[in-house]
Amino acid sequence: MNSVLELPTVAEDAVAVGADAESTNHELPHQELTGVEACSLENYLALPDHSMDDRIAAARAKLGKDVLLLGHHYQRDEVIRFADFTGDSYKLSKVAAETDAKYLIFCGVHFMAESADLLGRQDAEGNTIQQVILPDLNAGCSMADMAEISQVEAAWEALEKIGMTEGLVPLTYMNSTAAIKAFCGERGGLVCTSSNARAAFEWAFARGKRIFFLPDQHLGRNTGFAMGIPLEQMTVWDPWALQGGQSKTAIEASRIIMWKGHCSVHQRFLPSHVDQVRAKYPGIQVIVHPECRWDVCQKADALGSTERLIKIVEDAPEGSIFAIGTEIHLVNRLAKRFAPLGKKIITLDDAGCLCTTMYRISPQHLAWALENLIEGRVVNQIQVKRSVKKWARVALDRMLEV
Ligand code: SF4
Repeated sequence: MNSVLELPTVAEDAVAVGADAESTNHELPHQELTGVEACSLENYLALPDHSMDDRIAAARAKLGKDVLLLGHHYQRDEVIRFADFTGDSYKLSKVAAETDAKYLIFCGVHFMAESADLLGRQDAEGNTIQQVILPDLNAGCSMADMAEISQVEAAWEALEKIGMTEGLVPLTYMNSTAAIKAFCGERGGLVCTSSNARAAFEWAFARGKRIFFLPDQHLGRNTGFAMGIPLEQMTVWDPWALQGGQSKTAIEASRIIMWKGHCSVHQRFLPSHVDQVRAKYPGIQVIVHPECRWDVCQKADALGSTERLIKIVEDAPEGSIFAIGTEIHLVNRLAKRFAPLGKKIITLDDAGCLCTTMYRISPQHLAWALENLIEGRVVNQIQVKRSVKKWARVALDRMLEV
């Protein structure tokens, strides 16, 4: 569901939503609007994609530097072409905070917009200066949604009951809700990205015996294994099973307790896909994201964050062939960009590696968000509760130590 509220001044916003603001604006005060029909989302959705191009460009021009459009690497072409910056979620949030833009339109998914709000500029009292907009509130992340804060709190309690929280450091991947980030911050843990996961694990092991890693089991396993931790010393916590589906003995023997979460896009890549591309293209290099399964990563030539995967292709000599295990929009764009430079890029599997939730952000949603801003209305603002923000920022700040 998408929602609309009147555009307040920054000071009014702090009063109106301030301490009680939710991470989405479902509970923000709605006001009776006049003349909203022209900006009703339904009117946009009835129109074809290409008819939005001129409207988006015109709205961008009219709003000028007040608006910054952030496009995640996995975003579809029809939307990302309007982005001021493209990148991964952390990079985009950091870049946005360094600008004077008042409105950040995040063409990504919900946790990314939350991160932009967490890292966005604030005044001396901690009030939001930059308002973050997610063009479609249905753009969630399957992985982030696999770790609900109530489940994580229940898991911690269960571990506490058997005396296992002593020396346990909670650590979460950026791809998690702000509430999970705050959970880690409050308990001496931190946030990591796929680029600094290893350094974050080292940070945690310097402070405790065990890591409680959320929400991606694959990134946890791949990182732990690369550090020399045997698979038997990494257990998966199933939030739907009694005591996570683990005995106390198994937990005691573990160095990493990994949440049973995964990315529905990256988990689709299988070891057989690696075998198939190697058989078809001799000399091909297989590079994959560490959200892929452990056995896929073991068969790959290299693994890395989206930024690193791009860099590997950039640095490769002419004539190189790559099969990339990550979201299809990024792979297709790289294939197009590097074909004239004599580098061939294919997807590791051409069936179903689309981030369907990010795909929900359409040109129609983008035009709708922009034209509402012109009319003086902020739609789909994402604002993290102040109490959550405090500890989530602690966890994010700790990441800068690694
Ligand atoms: S690709 Fe996976 S982890 Fe990334 S936003 Fe989509 S579902 Fe979430």
